[in-house]
Amino acid sequence: MSNTKDNIKRGSCPVYKKCGGCQLQNLTYQEQLAFKQKKVSKFLSQFCKVQPIIGMENPFHYRNKVQAAFRTDRNGRIISGVYQSGTHRIVGIDECMIEDAIADKIIVTVRKMLKSFKLTTYDEDAQRGFLRHILVKRGFATNEVMLVLVTGTPVFPSKNNFVKAITKEFPEIKTVVQNINPYRTNLVLGDVQKILYGKGYIEDILCGCKFRISPKSFYQINPIQTEVLYGKAIEFAKLKGNETVLDTYCGIGTIGIIAAKNGAGSVIGVELNKDAVKDAVQNARANDLKNIRFYQGDAGEFMEVASEEDEKPDVVFMDPPRAGSDKKFLSSLIKMSPKTVVYISCNPETMARDLYYLTQNSTYKVKKIQPVDMFPHTSHIETVALLTKS
Ligand code: SAH
Repeated sequence: MSNTKDNIKRGSCPVYKKCGGCQLQNLTYQEQLAFKQKKVSKFLSQFCKVQPIIGMENPFHYRNKVQAAFRTDRNGRIISGVYQSGTHRIVGIDECMIEDAIADKIIVTVRKMLKSFKLTTYDEDAQRGFLRHILVKRGFATNEVMLVLVTGTPVFPSKNNFVKAITKEFPEIKTVVQNINPYRTNLVLGDVQKILYGKGYIEDILCGCKFRISPKSFYQINPIQTEVLYGKAIEFAKLKGNETVLDTYCGIGTIGIIAAKNGAGSVIGVELNKDAVKDAVQNARANDLKNIRFYQGDAGEFMEVASEEDEKPDVVFMDPPRAGSDKKFLSSLIKMSPKTVVYISCNPETMARDLYYLTQNSTYKVKKIQPVDMFPHTSHIETVALLTKS
């Protein structure tokens, strides 16, 4: 298949229906962008003009994180791929048009190696066997690859030879981790991990900053468009230097760290997930930043306490999950009254609800709305909005 956006054939993936991952594949890429533009406008054009969505030049193989489930069929053949939507049946996949091509090659190679190393696949019903899943993450800027083998049992026969063979074939694999998941669960990763090779993490570079990626840490899955999205967020914030910045719902600290590198005076990040906060602290250190701190906790609670203590940040970035923000957060934000609010959202519907609350209950006005296509061929939409006081 050719990799230019003009050449996409509608529904050209052979497992389009069974996989269900790419809901918009029946449309050409141009039609997908038009569909997303219309959806964002439906919810958000009541606030201000919606800028044209920024699509990808090459909307393929953008996923830097790829997962595959393993099973042996009745004829003793090993298959790897994704779960058929809504079931526990596996749809065999060797290559996928949105996944990183190197990650796909690694998964197929591991599958072929299993037999010669006499390794079995895990049987969920009998709760027996070895390999359950593979998770591959690749830093697009660094070309460092992490291979995570999720196994049902801890014993890994001929482990060293296996690691030697796979890293010889793919020298870009910088670390191999065994994650043990013996539970009856839909979660891919279990609690116990052993580093078999390398440091147990890889690094990537985003907007000129270094980020550590470990098996469990959250990292945006489309780094090319993430740079576009964060670039817009930083542009909207118009940092001149010495501003006090809050990065709320900060994950592993990406936006705050990039802001701290781009002229913010001091940054505070707030995030609920403990592991993400640990990664954020590491990331700040890796970038030699002394002007950024992180708090673990609910963003709404943090904002309430901070507003009662009369904190006056200049810029607040907010990037809540799909459900959007809550009243506690939004009313405290109004009380704090920062000059600039940059709202990043993966759900235009909850973004509209929150923008409505902010513009109805204060003098904030929405000045810019920019959708970015982070997930081509799927129905997901990311939008960044700028609010300032009129
Ligand atoms: N800004 C980050 C992460 C955005 S995803 C990035 O661009 O990578 C949304 C984040 O909000 C997740 O990390 C999630 O753990 C966090 N979160 C969810 N509910 C929260 C809450 N009530 N308070 C603070 N953080 C929350």
